[in-house]
Amino acid sequence: MEKCLFCKIASGEIPSKIIYDSPNVMAFLDIKPANPGHVLVIPKEHFETLPELPENLNSALLQVVKIITQAQIEVLGAQGVNVLQNNGEIAGQAVPHIHIHVIPRFKDDKIVINWAPTELKHEQLDEIQKRLISKARELATGEKEAPKQIEETPQAPEPEIKGKKKLLRIKPRNP
Ligand code: 5GP
Ligand code: ZN
Repeated sequence: MEKCLFCKIASGEIPSKIIYDSPNVMAFLDIKPANPGHVLVIPKEHFETLPELPENLNSALLQVVKIITQAQIEVLGAQGVNVLQNNGEIAGQAVPHIHIHVIPRFKDDKIVINWAPTELKHEQLDEIQKRLISKARELATGEKEAPKQIEETPQAPEPEIKGKKKLLRIKPRNP
């Protein structure tokens, strides 16, 4: 089967400006960045969208996203960072290999990430909660339960935290 664009980047067949390379995850500069320093983080293996990502890569991927975020703040002087990930064409996914955009933000940059907020009635929110809550619990625990028995939000196991690290805070903007 023909490899996708990001599989070719992961294998080095297509060159890229690599920022971080680990056995399973790679980060490289976006060729048409929203801002200078816009990075894409990918699993090296081909998965199209987030639900297909195997659990053992969840934290590896997020760890690299976090490292890149911190680097953009410390080295590029980013005053904020957007982490975005599109699933499916309708959601704006152009390359069908899962990738997380890590976009450094600067005062007065012209990036627009926006939507018009809508208002839902309480009953509509309740209905949506009902429809999602049991599936979310099932996916988190592997156990199926009747929706009517569920009164709490699902509890998934917490990931293991190895050692405590200094937390980096984004500096407040200049007034
Ligand atoms: P999507 O719209 O799928 O969420 O984002 C795809 C991203 O991949 C875009 O921001 C685009 O600029 C970037 N991109 C597309 N082709 C290449 C390429 O050949 N190399 C690199 N480094 N980035 C690419
Ligand atoms: Zn691929």
